[in-house]
Amino acid sequence: MPRYRITVSGKDYDAMADLVRKHKISIAGHTVKKLAKGRYRVHAHADGAQVRALEKAGYKVKRHEDVDKAGKQRQAEFRAASKKRLAEGTQVAGVGRYLTVTEVESALSAVAAPPNDSFTELITLPQKTWEDRVCHAIKIAKGDGLGRPGIYFLGGIHAREWGSPDILINFVEQLTQAYRTSTGITIGPKKFTASQIQKIVNEKDIYVFPQANPDGRHHSMTKDPNWRKNRRPAPAGRTNPHCVGVDLNRNYDFLWDFTKYFDPSAPVRNSTNPCDPEVYIGPSPDSEPETKNVVWLFDSYPNISYFIDLHSYSEDILYTWGDDVDQTTDPNMNFQNPAYDGKRGIANDTVYKEYINRGDKAAVVKLARRMREAIKAVRGREYLVEQALSLYPTAGTSDDYAYSRHLVGPNKPKVYSYTIEWGSENNPTPFHPPYNEMQKIIQEITAALLEFCVRAT
Ligand SMILES: [Zn+2]
Repeated sequence: MPRYRITVSGKDYDAMADLVRKHKISIAGHTVKKLAKGRYRVHAHADGAQVRALEKAGYKVKRHEDVDKAGKQRQAEFRAASKKRLAEGTQVAGVGRYLTVTEVESALSAVAAPPNDSFTELITLPQKTWEDRVCHAIKIAKGDGLGRPGIYFLGGIHAREWGSPDILINFVEQLTQAYRTSTGITIGPKKFTASQIQKIVNEKDIYVFPQANPDGRHHSMTKDPNWRKNRRPAPAGRTNPHCVGVDLNRNYDFLWDFTKYFDPSAPVRNSTNPCDPEVYIGPSPDSEPETKNVVWLFDSYPNISYFIDLHSYSEDILYTWGDDVDQTTDPNMNFQNPAYDGKRGIANDTVYKEYINRGDKAAVVKLARRMREAIKAVRGREYLVEQALSLYPTAGTSDDYAYSRHLVGPNKPKVYSYTIEWGSENNPTPFHPPYNEMQKIIQEITAALLEFCVRAT
């Protein structure tokens, strides 16, 4: 049965919560938009029967594209463009299509090779993926010494969000080339001076892990365009293709066992069912090789104090927390306090809200706004700076995990953490927009990341 991308609007919090709790609808774009008179709307994927059931239950539903058919169209464009062999040394900006999984790796190796090798290091991640792929990250830094802040950019966790690795490869290509040649970087009207670029590389350690889930991305680019998870084999005896894979951004060790920590009526976007096509949390926290690789970088480079995970879509810059509404007044009301187990995750109540230090919150928001301004300067797109919780709570995500590390382990550094959801909900197939649009997104997010590197100290 065809599945559609839909915009659903409902009359109040409970109606929106019921989309997940009762109707088991899979939410697509991140943000729940607030409308007039207490109404909300959100993007989702649903088949015709689900659409009719929602309409009958009083929701307003607008159908967009058939996601599988439109996704196949994107794959066909990608295949046709891939037939043209890449000229050696071509940078992302000149490719004209998404990079293949192999090309992301070879582009990363090229960036780390001479003439950039005096200020770059190719890092081999320790865990091979389920399909036996080896992943790499890059460290860009000239010199070393105490007190250098580490900034960690991650991409490619969700398989169908094809563009995040392309953004990060473009970012490392631009940064290394400008550093080596002592030039600035101009992205549309947005300019970074040669001196700003020199300071980034001379004074900070930049870690970029562009493609953390290559198995999933390859599967999405060649088989199922809407695949989200990794490719962990299905449990024994399960033959439904949806029983393959874990949602890596539900697998981190932060409130991972949501059934214990959350209110049973919270509309949590997590599932313990291995056959859930989207949000299966995995058999244990940190169970997946891909998740372990992401965590390994934090453990191996303890000067990392900033983290941004790239996802799509909805044009948001999200900061901690994602499990409940932030509060800055009661430090005892926090994710480690068992007195609140079973009470978390209801966005419009006062029973539980997640504590964040006031100074931290001000600092993360300030940096997020810098990124928003950089994005806007490129071609006018207005990203929203918001808390990660948007009515639907999550657990086991990378950004909450990263910021929680210093609270769980007193010897661990504090990591200010973000998720960027790039790309507009108005793009067709917004998880992997047509490439001419993706090129523009690559430019605006590269500007945001460069601005972040300039401002984060
Ligand atoms: Zn994602």
